[in-house]
Parts: sequence; C-alpha cells; structure tokens
Amino acid sequence: MQWKMLIGADWVDAKSKETIDCVNPATEEVFGQVPAGGKEDVAKAAAAAREAFENGWGRTTGTERGRLLRGIAEGIRARKAELAKYETMDAGKPGPESDFAMDTAAQIYDMYAGLAEKLDVRGQQEVEQPNEGLRTTVEYSPVGVVGMITPWNFPIGQVTWKVGAALAAGCTCVVKPSEFTSVTALELGRIALDAGLPPGVLNIVTGTGPEAGEPLVLDPNIDKISFTGSTRTGSRIMEMAARDLKRVGLELGGKSSIIVFDDVNIDHAAEWAAFGVFINQGQVCSATSRLLLHENRADEFLARLKSIAEGITVGDGAMDGVNMGPLINKAQYEKVTGYIETGKKQGATLLTGGGRPKGLNTGYFVEPTIFTDVRPDMTIWNEEIFGPVLSVMTFREEDEALNLANDTPYGLAGAVMSADKERAERVAGKMEAGVVWQNCNQLVVAQAPWGGIKKSGMGRELGEWGLEEFLETRQKTRWLDDSARLGWYF
Ligand code: NAD
Repeated sequence: MQWKMLIGADWVDAKSKETIDCVNPATEEVFGQVPAGGKEDVAKAAAAAREAFENGWGRTTGTERGRLLRGIAEGIRARKAELAKYETMDAGKPGPESDFAMDTAAQIYDMYAGLAEKLDVRGQQEVEQPNEGLRTTVEYSPVGVVGMITPWNFPIGQVTWKVGAALAAGCTCVVKPSEFTSVTALELGRIALDAGLPPGVLNIVTGTGPEAGEPLVLDPNIDKISFTGSTRTGSRIMEMAARDLKRVGLELGGKSSIIVFDDVNIDHAAEWAAFGVFINQGQVCSATSRLLLHENRADEFLARLKSIAEGITVGDGAMDGVNMGPLINKAQYEKVTGYIETGKKQGATLLTGGGRPKGLNTGYFVEPTIFTDVRPDMTIWNEEIFGPVLSVMTFREEDEALNLANDTPYGLAGAVMSADKERAERVAGKMEAGVVWQNCNQLVVAQAPWGGIKKSGMGRELGEWGLEEFLETRQKTRWLDDSARLGWYF
C-alpha cells in the first residue's frame, strides 16, 4: 500500500518523490511505503498549521474543540480492527496489545474533549493577592503551532498523548511520526478530517529524523516542539530549539528499577516483574529493566520468574496466542543482541533466554532474557537496552536497594513490591522518578501526569498536566478605582 502525507487539506507525496518502506518486523516483508518528507514538505505543513491557527482554530471555544475530539475518538473506535492490524504489521505488537492501544487512544481523545470543555470555564480565575485596589486574573491561551516528533514503540499512543492535549488547548499540529511506524499516524489524519477537523489543524509529515525531524524543530512557524524519543536526540533537539528559544517538552529514555522485598506473594510479584520488562518486548521507556531482589527469597523468586519468562509465547503478533512480538527492526535486534553478548562477556550469568526463539528464523525475535550476578558497573545494568532483557541484583537493606535504583542518570519510573504498605509508600517516595508504582508496574493512568526527571526529560504528558504544556498563561491586572491615582511622583 502507498500512503501519502497530510498537509493542509491535501494528501501528498514528498516533494522529492522518495519513499520509506514499511517493514513488518515479524516477517521482514515490505507491506507498503510512506513518503520520505524533507525540509520543503515540513515548511509547507508548518505554514498550513500556522494559517489554520491564525484563521480561527486558536480562537475556537473549548466546547467546539471538545466536539471534534470526541469525533476523533469515535472514528478510532469505528476503525479499530483495521488500525490495530496496521499497528501489528508496522510495530510487531501482539494483536491484543494493538487492540488495547486503539481503545486507550480513543479514551484519551475523549478525556481531552472533557478537559477542552472545562477550559472555557477555567479562564478568569482570580489570583489571591494583598492589594485590595487590584483585581488579578489568569487567562489561558494556546501556545500556537506545535511540532511533534514521536518514536516507534507505541505509535498511535505517543501521537495521541500529544495531539489530544494540543488540540484541546487550541494549538495546531505538525506531527512527524517515527519513520519505522508512520501508518497509524497517517490513518489518524484521515480520521480527524472525517470528524470535521478543519484542514491544516493537524498535519502529518513522514520522514527520517535528520531529513524531516530537524527541519521541523528549526522551522520558524513552529512555536513549540514536543518530543518523545531517546535522550541523545532529545538533547540535540533542545539545543536546536534554544536558538529561537522555542518551547520544548521532552519525554526521553530510562533505566528503571523494580524493588522486590521478601514479604511479597511470589506469584504476583514475579508476574509484575516479568510484565515490567517483557511487555512490548521491553521496548518501553519506563521498562523496569533492573530487578532488585531481597536476598532472603531470591532463589524462590527467580525460579518463578524464569518459568514465567520461558512460558511466554513469542511470535508474529498477528497470530493467536502470541504474547510477545519481534523487536522493531534489524538495527534494534543487533543492538539488543549486542547488549546480551556484552552482559555475558562482562561476567553476568544468563538465567534464561539470550538467543533467538526456536523455530523463528525470520523476523527480529529475541527470547525473554534474564541475567543474574549483575554488578553495578556492568553495561547491561547502566544502559537503556530497549529490549526484553532483565538485569538482576540482590540486596539486604532498604537503603542499599534505593541507592542502587537511584544510581542512574535517568529518572522516569520505578516500582516497589512489598506486603508492608508503609514500607512500599516510603520506598516509592524515595525513588528518583516521575512515575512510581506500588505493588503493580507499568500501568498508565491517563488522567495523571507522565514524565521523567533527571535525563528522562522535562515537562509532563497526560491529564491536565499534559494540557498545560500547550497553554500559555497570561496575567491580567485591573486597577479597580478609576478615581484613585498612583501617588508615586506627586
Ligand atoms: P529516537 O530518538 O531515535 O527517535 C525518536 C524520533 O525522533 C523519531 O521520530 C526520529 O525520526 C526522530 N529523530 C531522530 N533524530 C532526530 C533529529 N536529529 N532531529 C529531529 N528528530 C529526530 O528514538 P526511538 O529509537 O524512536 O525511540 C526509542 C527511545 O524513545 C527510547 O530511548 C525510549 O526510552 C524513548 N521513549 C520515551 C518515552 C517517554 O515517555 N519518556 C516513551 C517512548 C519512548
């Protein structure tokens, strides 16, 4: 299939006519092409977004925007099966995970519809201040035209977190999805137009980071860049955006820990630990790829975890019963298997996995992998692998576990498992992370803020906090008594 990009009201090829292949990572087959957009395509899209913003979208009411956002949610639900099929072909996700991605995307558009409606009553909020002669209020207005750059691990999800919030705020958007997973973003453009979104409010330009991403960051029509991806690219984007003092929101990488105490129900905790690193093949920014296990019950816990890992059915996500798919592409496969080799070379013990699952000779498949005897100086303990590879260390004291968990430049997420609720609360409170889970793992609450501290990024997505990122706040101060003068000079 040949997809086109959405610029204004038009579905277009790249000016260069070049395309990028869409590759199914489970079969390595090419199932289509998307345009390889470049600087001129990006400039056109940003100009279309600027025009749509100035021509009225920026002044629409929250109620009007809410209606259109609900229309997008409806459109996703109506085409759920087809969209989920594309997501599995493009990103390798197991079918139920793609279905879930479409359900949650629709829910997020609905949530932002509600928040857009609330914005209409939120303006004019009075600020408490000591001068009785003044009345100060705060108004909210959209940031303007937003450039959005997203990764491949949750294609529809990452686009939705940004687009839902930005549209609710009254911004217009140019989305540059990952070159490896552009299909559902393009289909979303169609759904949005069908729902009645005015042309130019949502533009989708496909292409690589250097060819389409960089020009988007540098384009003069862009007021803000909202980026999700690697810390390295995020840092580069911030540098580029700094030239014009563009606003930036960054959701970056992580190396998160799950701390397991010796009072847990082993079956339950082991399942959460497995879920934390094997869901989406470990290609999750918040993946708890470090397991800190209390030494008292480490053997018992690891035996259970190993059997869970070995029971995972790896395969083509389009097949029934598969609960782990392939990695996204050859480069990621080589990167992850390279980390596994490094882990072995540096002396970690392979408890299970480490290779290609038997019988899967095509596709970028890696077995669920667990390393024990890991030391804190090892590469696999420190670097984001972004694959189904768990590194395990044991601990004796609570503080020792916390120090090990926090000893990373990242700060996205963390999880703690303990039957002692006070301890779980205390440990969660000391984890240096933007998202912490107690007795669960990886659950995304769309109404709550999501984002990292330290090198995991800045700004928040989801809920009201996500909306706030696309709003400017303005102070309005009024002198109440026209008959009173300032009294400064005379
Ligand atoms: P990446 O940084 O390579 O690419 C992300 C996006 O940036 C892609 O669209 C890519 O084309 C674009 N890009 C690449 N170079 C660019 C440049 N020089 N200028 C502008 N755009 C550029 O990341 P990835 O490999 O696609 O995704 C994996 C990373 O994303 C991991 O590090 C992961 O932790 C992170 N991530 C973070 C979150 C979060 O919420 N914090 C969520 C998902 C993924």
